Amino acid sequence: MALDEAWQAAFATRLHEVRRRIERAARSVGREPDDVLLIGVTKTHPTAVARHAVDAGVTDLGENRVQELVVKRREVPARWHFIGRLQRNKVREVTDGATLVHSIDRQALVDAVARRAGDSGVRQPILVQVNVGDDPAKGGCPVHRVHELVAYAHAQPNLRVEGLMTMPPLAPPGADDVTAAYFATLRQLRDELVSEHPDVRHLSMGMSADLELAVENGATMVRVGTALFGPRATRPAGTTKDTG
Ligand SMILES: *Cc1c(COP(=O)(O)O)cnc(C)c1O
Repeated sequence: MALDEAWQAAFATRLHEVRRRIERAARSVGREPDDVLLIGVTKTHPTAVARHAVDAGVTDLGENRVQELVVKRREVPARWHFIGRLQRNKVREVTDGATLVHSIDRQALVDAVARRAGDSGVRQPILVQVNVGDDPAKGGCPVHRVHELVAYAHAQPNLRVEGLMTMPPLAPPGADDVTAAYFATLRQLRDELVSEHPDVRHLSMGMSADLELAVENGATMVRVGTALFGPRATRPAGTTKDTG
């Protein structure tokens, strides 16, 4: 599929704007913009979109469904991130020793990914997803079990726990302080963990609507879809929701 010129121009503008938002937020708290990795979330968009983003200088791309990840990862050279809910029967497809898996939230998944990485002779990078808001609609390990889960994963020789990820509950408009507090919770957890587990340094948090709050609260990775690629087509009936 070819992307028309109007789309390409709109994308260039959006990419510039997202980078400016990251830069402003970082500088506002004395951080370096380069310490925040932009992950372009290409879910539901065609492979041509992912390829174009890479050509435009986006180094990292994310998908939340295994099937889409597998197809685009095969065709587009980027650093890939799996950010969606992971079922154990799909672990084999994401565990390639390179894709950063953001959504490890329970021991059974740690076991499955570690076993698969061992079989393949790779060390798999992962993040532990935290359900900071105890939101039953979202995946993630409860806050009070994060230390235990990170220690458990850290003990697996074929895993490398690189940090924490979260999707806070949707806050009502104007409730930025609520969202900020969730991001601060994730940072607090990371700060508690990093002395014992020095690889645990990344904070994957912040999306199109709240990336400034995330960067101000220490995000090292932001996952941005709509603000880069425009609105997503709704999924065909019967497929799963696109929230992680
Ligand atoms: C879709 C998705 C994003 C990006 O969301 P936007 O609001 O479009 O930026 C980020 N993280 C996860 C886990 C997602 O599923």
